[in-house]
Amino acid sequence: MNVSLSTDIRELPNYGPAKANRLSRLGLRTVRDALFFFPREYQEPPPPARIADLKQGQRAAFVGRITDVSLSSSTPGKSVYATVVENESGAVRMLFFNQPFRADSLTMDKTIRLIGSPKLTGLRWEFAHPEVEILEDGLHDPNPPATIVPVYPLVETVKQADVRGVVAAAIEHGLESVLEVMPEELRERAAGCLNGNHVEAGQALVGICAALREIHQPTASECLAAARLRLIFQELLVMQLALATRRRSLTTDLEATPLECSSRLRQRILRRFPFALTDDQTRVVDEIVADMRRQFPMNRMLQGDVGSGKTAVAFFAMLLAVAGKQQAALMAPTEVLARQHFHHLQRLMDGSRVRVGLLCGSLTTSERRQTLREIESGDLDLIIGTHALVYDVAFRSLALVVVDEQHRFGVRQRVQLRGGGKAPHYLVMSATPIPRTVAMTQFGDVALSVLREKPAGRIGVKTYLADDAWKSRWWGFVRERLSEGRQAYVVAPRVGELGFEARDDDEDDIASVTQTYRELKETQLSDYRVELLHGGMAPEDKQSVMDAFAEGEIEVLVSTTVIEVGIDVANATVMTILGANRFGLAQLHQLRGRVARGSHGGHVGVFVDGGKSPRDDERLVRFETTEDGFALAEADYQMRGPGDLLGRRQSGLPPLLIADLQRDQEVLGVARELAHELIEEDPDMSGPLLSLLRDQVFRRYGTRLELGDGA
Ligand code: ADP
Ligand code: MG
Repeated sequence: MNVSLSTDIRELPNYGPAKANRLSRLGLRTVRDALFFFPREYQEPPPPARIADLKQGQRAAFVGRITDVSLSSSTPGKSVYATVVENESGAVRMLFFNQPFRADSLTMDKTIRLIGSPKLTGLRWEFAHPEVEILEDGLHDPNPPATIVPVYPLVETVKQADVRGVVAAAIEHGLESVLEVMPEELRERAAGCLNGNHVEAGQALVGICAALREIHQPTASECLAAARLRLIFQELLVMQLALATRRRSLTTDLEATPLECSSRLRQRILRRFPFALTDDQTRVVDEIVADMRRQFPMNRMLQGDVGSGKTAVAFFAMLLAVAGKQQAALMAPTEVLARQHFHHLQRLMDGSRVRVGLLCGSLTTSERRQTLREIESGDLDLIIGTHALVYDVAFRSLALVVVDEQHRFGVRQRVQLRGGGKAPHYLVMSATPIPRTVAMTQFGDVALSVLREKPAGRIGVKTYLADDAWKSRWWGFVRERLSEGRQAYVVAPRVGELGFEARDDDEDDIASVTQTYRELKETQLSDYRVELLHGGMAPEDKQSVMDAFAEGEIEVLVSTTVIEVGIDVANATVMTILGANRFGLAQLHQLRGRVARGSHGGHVGVFVDGGKSPRDDERLVRFETTEDGFALAEADYQMRGPGDLLGRRQSGLPPLLIADLQRDQEVLGVARELAHELIEEDPDMSGPLLSLLRDQVFRRYGTRLELGDGA
């Protein structure tokens, strides 16, 4: 029989249209589909148990001889087939309801192995509807060989046996036609990297045919592990080759303005800062300096917990661009934040010739026109703006783009700015820590810098989970801080009472900003200047409230999460979060970051809606005990598990067939390193090691990652 991978399974022996139609519901149409339809899991039969080992409801195997049988039927159509199965440790009962045919095969004196979850009824263990296997000579062999059984993902009307059958036929007739896309030399090199990285690996990666056979028809658990490793590695290597290719196309394939940083220039820039950079900031500055001196654009992400001092690093890079007679742009997610950066930069550049411009929504038309002209003519050197506005600006000579709080803009969105013919260097900053696996996948094409250390002199934040019963004591505590001259934030999940919000009776339970504001003003905090801030306000109103808070004219700011991002008021040290159950962990951590800045030490009181205790919420307990944003993000990721936002589903990358990013992290790391080496050696993937994999890279990732047509 002449079978290729694209042969329809209907042409395999014993596969009529009916069976094939059923299998097509699983997407199994061709021999290739069947060979690459991987088991969801494997069942290893539990070792045969003794009576004394059995536990209520816990899957177990029992090997013994049938010593008693009875088939009884009380009403027509209903029956019970009950048997006693015995070995030297004792006897169990095995029951089948309404399956009288069982009496034909499970007869007296047969030795069987049954697998199921026993229940203790009276004094005897009972297995109802176990899996049963009749053993030929099991009587003399108390440990019959255990086979590992693949379990495939199914849909209704298709049985495990159907899938196992078609896979077996595909292996028998089609396995030989599978092309090995990883030549021996590549497999050896991969195995070398894997072994060096403590991944449990065999000596070499197995060949594709052996791997496929073992995946579907395992012979032993070590062989199965080796087969899985081969297939997992291949899948991750293909992904990482795609990402490495994309990284090249965003960097080495483009031309940027190289910007040199002499040590004199470095000193000149550093002298402008009111503080000395931390060692961590210095290290990251070095990384950026090394990137920006090259002929091709930097493509780097700076990750740092809230308050780690990312802004100073970004400003350094911007001043480096200006020293090279180029422009630099900084984009912020909100106008409030853009203005804050603008003011800081203006202060930093005080007394220099460097000109700083601001582009944001509240400019008048003529102000805006003027600013645009100055950007185009090159009169402005540093431009701060909100994201949307900076978009369609024509720069004269833009050499650097900084994107602050990148996580607000969505994962894969890249900003395309026009200016000066060359591609700008690109630095994105994020306070939302990215789990390692995500950094290696969605952000796999970006170089990563991490700020871990915070500037010295920070006392840190204390977080308190509080029941409603605690509220009046908490407000007392807030009042004390206020009377010491500090300021306070109060955050609630919704605005409330604006008229344009959907009224929903359920919502009455959710803390609202307007209501909280009124309450606090009239009662607990009536002696203090309390103001309101939320996204529904006009930009200039928001700004004047923010300014007044920054100046200390307002002592308490009652707000929605508009303050979440980047706001820096060192004198504000107490935060009350109401309805904390409505916020994500990352968001809570961002909020907390607002009071972790100064040298006074911050305090956060956390309340939940509906008179509940925040202690019942596992996430909030984590939030209280973990101050490190990175640890918190990892914990969040673990808790939410697979399918999470940053995890697998919305990653923007095609789904994986056999690899699991969380579980296979080590392998992922190895695949990533090897992919980078390989792409450096052979950027077009045309050499003997990669030419066959290249096809898979473009087929799977070409469109998603805009790799071009691969021609
Ligand atoms: P984030 O990383 O959250 O954007 P910022 O850049 O806003 O943090 O910095 C937080 C605060 O720390 C700011 O008030 C900033 O002036 C201060 N800061 C940054 N770097 C240092 C440093 N090396 N020494 C002292 N203070 C610093
Ligand atoms: Mg910031």
